[in-house]
Amino acid sequence: MTLYDDTLLCNFPKCRGKLSGFAWVTACSHVFCDQHGSGEFSCSPAICPACSSALSGKLDIVRTELSPSEEYKAMVLSGLRPDVVLDISARALAFWRYQVHQERMYQEYSLSRADAQLKQMDKVLTQQNQSRELELTAMRGEIASLKKVMDEYKRKYSEVSERLMERNRQYQKLQGLYDSLRLRNMVGTGDKETSHQEHHDFNTGMGRLRTPQRSPQFLTTGQDGVSRFFSCLEQDGAKSFFQFGTPMKDRARTLVKKHQG
Ligand SMILES: [Zn+2]
Ligand SMILES: [Zn+2]
Repeated sequence: MTLYDDTLLCNFPKCRGKLSGFAWVTACSHVFCDQHGSGEFSCSPAICPACSSALSGKLDIVRTELSPSEEYKAMVLSGLRPDVVLDISARALAFWRYQVHQERMYQEYSLSRADAQLKQMDKVLTQQNQSRELELTAMRGEIASLKKVMDEYKRKYSEVSERLMERNRQYQKLQGLYDSLRLRNMVGTGDKETSHQEHHDFNTGMGRLRTPQRSPQFLTTGQDGVSRFFSCLEQDGAKSFFQFGTPMKDRARTLVKKHQG
């Protein structure tokens, strides 16, 4: 018992209020406020609400004034022998000492319970922190691996776009070459009809297959013309372009076969 201003507390379990005015003391060394004492001890037989002792004796329960008047203090022990006075005082002090001890036990119990709760909460918090830490580590790992994957995709993307640009350049060169060859074909012969026919065949690509006897005009320039044609292509990196299946490839093959045959 933390004795606030040297005051006892009501022993009723749910009260623990500071005692003042009148208090009810019992033979089992318990004390109650006026409210709980008058309530609990009005019926018979009386039972101590703190320790369940039966209080049937005439002086087992006494309602006492905590701050007695000077007149009462002057008279209450008067006439008694010194040993009786000391005996009464010793018993009253023992009662007080028991109350102090009891309150101290209660406070220690509360403290240990709070301490245990604190430790339990600390343990839970530590476990939660550890699991959060683990989750965080796992997520960091995941982010790192995703970054790696993304970097890999970026690298592939730039490679592919570079290749695409290279193909575009090759295509443009080839297109230019094709246009100039077509132009040569058109102006290089006096036969307007043949020129027109060749132009048409070259555009469709199919006309050539149907009329294998005909040779385009530029091929009639002989070996020199063909080698120039293909050397141009190779210089421009057209070889790699022809590795893809395009109508151009078939057409070039046809041209070569026709010339060799
Ligand atoms: Zn009370
Ligand atoms: Zn009691």
